[in-house]
Amino acid sequence: MIHNLASCRFSRLASFALPLNALGRANCVPAKLFCLQRSLKSLGFRCNCQTGNPMMNDPNEITFRESVDRMFDRATATMDLPLGLAEQIRSCNSVYQVQFGVKLGDRYEVFTGWRAVHSEHILPVKGGIRYADFANQDEVEALAALMSYKCAIVMIPFGGSKGALKIDPRQYSEKDLEKITRRFAQELAKRDLIHPSLNVPAPDMGTGEREMGWISDTYQSLFPGQANGMGCVTGKPVHLGGISGRIEATGRGVQYGLREYFRHPDDVTRAKLNGTLEGKRIVVQGLGNVGYHAAKFLSEEDGAKITGIIERDGAISSADGLDVEAVKQHITANGGVKGFPGADYTEDGASMLEADCDILIPAAMESVITRQNAAKIQAPLIAEAANGPVTYAADEILREKGTVIIPDAYLNAGGVTVSYFEWVKNLARIRFGYLERRNEERRGQMLVEALEKMLNTTVPQEIRDQLTTGSDELALVRSGLDDTMRNAYNNIRDIFNAREKVVDLRTAAFVCGIERIAKRYESMGI
Ligand code: NAD
Repeated sequence: MIHNLASCRFSRLASFALPLNALGRANCVPAKLFCLQRSLKSLGFRCNCQTGNPMMNDPNEITFRESVDRMFDRATATMDLPLGLAEQIRSCNSVYQVQFGVKLGDRYEVFTGWRAVHSEHILPVKGGIRYADFANQDEVEALAALMSYKCAIVMIPFGGSKGALKIDPRQYSEKDLEKITRRFAQELAKRDLIHPSLNVPAPDMGTGEREMGWISDTYQSLFPGQANGMGCVTGKPVHLGGISGRIEATGRGVQYGLREYFRHPDDVTRAKLNGTLEGKRIVVQGLGNVGYHAAKFLSEEDGAKITGIIERDGAISSADGLDVEAVKQHITANGGVKGFPGADYTEDGASMLEADCDILIPAAMESVITRQNAAKIQAPLIAEAANGPVTYAADEILREKGTVIIPDAYLNAGGVTVSYFEWVKNLARIRFGYLERRNEERRGQMLVEALEKMLNTTVPQEIRDQLTTGSDELALVRSGLDDTMRNAYNNIRDIFNAREKVVDLRTAAFVCGIERIAKRYESMGI
């Protein structure tokens, strides 16, 4: 059965079955996947499919997508949406699954990838591409849905999308990864699933600016005539059209989100905490892009203590606080946290989620706090840096217990926010601060001179430096991100405080995002 691929973006749930071509490339419905993989194997291809998130070993736990959908339903139950509109918003518009073969040395390997488009109420749609050996369609749909709600919550004008490739990137050389990434990018670009005005990917778990650079170059080689081609993907290296501050953005956003939370004593008291971030004991799971930057900034700039770090090979702890930079270097050199000097080590990393601390920051992956361990979580405040770290069942248990959760759909929106800045920069073809910086400096200089003349005194050097330094791109990006995270938190807490049926910050965040999407759909007449 051959479908018109162009219809993919408009179908409700589109998976395609295409015949194999010479490279073993095929698009297939899940039911046919197993047979196809078997026949590919019999033809000498090695298939790269494993199943399941390793943390999701509870058969009673619903899937990630179902979990996100139930959180959505809980929010819409408190709202007064026109009949059918909630279902329209909740449904994933389309999912494209692709299998493609790549010749690596003297063998062929077949890879499976997805790109889900959740909501196209605004174009382009936006969402990361993840490389993980446990990736699956359900997860991609869940993440795409979270992207729609997230963008609406922080008022970034994108619809929601997400992609994944089922691969453990650590098992491949850089050369092979480049070949695989470029091939995947071609498959997606051919179907407008990478496109500066329609669908703009970004980094996620297992990918970073290197992969985004390859994707950008592949797209621009395929479509060299597009003036906006550089905006086909965000999270690129700065020298390839990226933006300063994108790598740190999600972790930085977590820091700004937590700072805003601690500006509201009532909210802090609800988590049975008090004061500021200074001295707060934090356990972080995952010292990758998001976890590393969040832990680094919170400890180096806000005086928090990182008392525990959980990684793939176990967890380390220290009551005095861990040096995040040193731990990161240790992981790079040794492949894990084991053996980090001056810290206690346990092989059972997940047990550290239950440690006594003030703030737990899951920053690795989804579904790590489930019905099995939720009751044992001691942290009174969970800051969801990862997407979907708390399952629906765990969420209910934690709320009953009085644990406060700052939800993913808000807290990790720093990445997409700065991606938006990068996309705007690419379309405008000018870096932020280029026109204003020296003008700002000149005005600052005039102000200093006027003050000195009028008061007959000398302005101290520190103040002079502050007044006479114009904003460069990084300063502007951080300022825009800070503003976004502050405003969004206040929108969420206003809903939480004003509406009796809204039981927690997650529900408030969903209500905030869904209301904005609903308004858009209603105005569009859909
Ligand atoms: P990453 O690949 O850079 O880092 C993930 C880290 O988690 C790695 O250090 C890895 O070793 C560790 N890890 C993996 N499995 C683990 C386990 N079972 N226990 C403990 N540690 C484990 O990924 P990332 O980009 O930092 O993404 C992390 C999470 O944040 C994901 O949920 C992702 O969807 C979400 N997120 C990322 C971004 C972004 O800009 N990168 C934006 C929004 C949300």
